Amino acid sequence: ITNSKTIIVSNRLPVKITEENGEYILSPSEGGLATGLGSVYKRNNNIWIGWPGIEIPEHRQAEVTEKLAGLNLIPVFLSNEEISLYYEGFSNEVLWPVFHYLVTYANFEQAYWDSYKTVNEKFKAVTLNHLNSDDIIWIHDYQLLLLPCLIRSEQQEVTIGFFQHIPFPSFEIFRLIPWREQLIAGMLGADLLGFHTFDDARHFLSAASRLSSSNLSDNILIYKNRQVVVEAFPMGIDAEKFDKLTRTEKVARYTSSFKASLKNVKTILTIDRLDYSKGILQRLQAFELLLQLHPEYIGKLALYMIVVPSRDTVPRYKELKDQIDQLVGNINARFRTINWVPVHYFYRSFSVEFLSAIYSTADICLVTPMRDGMNLVSKEYVASRSNGDGVLILSEMAGASKELNEALIVNPNDIGNIMEAIVQAINMSPEEQHKRIKSMRAIVNKFNIHLWVKNFMDKLNEVKSMQE
Ligand code: UDP
Repeated sequence: ITNSKTIIVSNRLPVKITEENGEYILSPSEGGLATGLGSVYKRNNNIWIGWPGIEIPEHRQAEVTEKLAGLNLIPVFLSNEEISLYYEGFSNEVLWPVFHYLVTYANFEQAYWDSYKTVNEKFKAVTLNHLNSDDIIWIHDYQLLLLPCLIRSEQQEVTIGFFQHIPFPSFEIFRLIPWREQLIAGMLGADLLGFHTFDDARHFLSAASRLSSSNLSDNILIYKNRQVVVEAFPMGIDAEKFDKLTRTEKVARYTSSFKASLKNVKTILTIDRLDYSKGILQRLQAFELLLQLHPEYIGKLALYMIVVPSRDTVPRYKELKDQIDQLVGNINARFRTINWVPVHYFYRSFSVEFLSAIYSTADICLVTPMRDGMNLVSKEYVASRSNGDGVLILSEMAGASKELNEALIVNPNDIGNIMEAIVQAINMSPEEQHKRIKSMRAIVNKFNIHLWVKNFMDKLNEVKSMQE
């Protein structure tokens, strides 16, 4: 037992590599998952396996491997062609749209699938190089659905956990994928499969029992004489970090300059990666409808919309960007006055300090994805409301809506419903705001990223000991 280690595997390593004057510079990434799993992979002889984020020419791979080893990180090197076919292709043009219920956006290309298999095999080879039979492996997300089975076929006894960070669709949607049986068989190599919500877990169980020869009882599948446990683990954030940030000097400076620019205008905040699953256009339409039907808010309310550039080599994303640009332009041209602009639109990313300032200042946070596995932005807004006020409007299609019951819950397809929620938010009494935010803060604080990691690892250990 003393020699057993934990191996995290994900598409990307929690580090950024940049090249400066021919030298590779490593900087750790600060994402929520990296923070949460930091307590795991940095300990003892544990490691994290993944792609370093850029193509490294063969003659420099040994050098990069050595640099990463100092941080307990193990690289899987991928060529630009593999990134294009496996990552942008199969992961982001097949699995992403289908798992978010946008089947018509999917391109079922055979070459994508072939590359997806090859790259999953590459991850298997690297993992096996570092694997002892009593190790625990925790694989992350939809880029690696085949990996559990690939590893299992070489190491029957090893313990494998898998967590999927995006939704798992209903069987009627999932069955449209040409390679559906292989994907399910790939996932069933794990001992424990985790999803954000109970519905995702239920959808997986239903697809797995129809597409594999397995027996289902409760949340356990018996597959090839092994037990596969399927459960919901709603992911949390580092809530304490977001709460504390609002009181730092740097954030306070941002906050006061932001407040000074607002005068008596109420603010609605939206933050998303550029993605068609986020409902950005529908949300703009709701805001436009509000200005049209409630001209009393002209000059008194502004939308701060941050869109973080993402996947801009995929055609659908470029198209969406053009549509957003156009709609924002139309709304601003139609409603602006000499000293007021309705939509403040940013197409870039920001530092966590700037985000903290804007989260803690905005009167309303509007989160309306068409589908979202969890949605961390909604939780970060709540965690940043150290003063206890603010209103969260949240799509019922986000995993977070299952936990944040005190948000104003909306159907993201219903423009009128979103508009009414904005009106309700503007007019909500301070008492009601405090009551709702307090209850949501309790949830976000308790079910934080650390508890999420602990719950998953505890369950994985329990599953392992059940097998012994
Ligand atoms: N975020 C960021 N830089 C920005 C704006 C946002 O890193 O400029 C972060 C944000 O704090 C959040 C994440 O991006 O943690 C978005 O996560 P979410 O679950 O909301 O959506 P996803 O992008 O994973 O679909």
